[in-house]
Amino acid sequence: MLEHITASEVAGYGVGALLLCATITAPKIDSFISASQRSSLGMCKRCGDLKLIACSNCKGSGSLKQGGSFSFGPSDVSFTGGNSMMRSLSCNKCRSRGHFPCPECSKVSTT
Ligand SMILES: [Zn+2]
Ligand SMILES: [Zn+2]
Repeated sequence: MLEHITASEVAGYGVGALLLCATITAPKIDSFISASQRSSLGMCKRCGDLKLIACSNCKGSGSLKQGGSFSFGPSDVSFTGGNSMMRSLSCNKCRSRGHFPCPECSKVSTT
């Protein structure tokens, strides 16, 4: 029974996740879902109610690859083992979180 999760909530998270992915991977899709469409869904125009903006510096991964001679993927980490720290730097733009608080959503209370 998933009665505690409403259909609109599922749809909201789905669209929000899609928007976040779109921000990371394909800006074209982001324009496909227009701001007016988001606001008609009652969502934040900026982040789609995720209250998060994907970091463009690290593509939302929260870490930056250094070198790049190895293939991109989780296998990279297991291969390098203990030296993985040398190849994966924390993104200091987003403090390795991969995202920022949405400026639109956090506009009310400025820290
Ligand atoms: Zn980042
Ligand atoms: Zn927002």
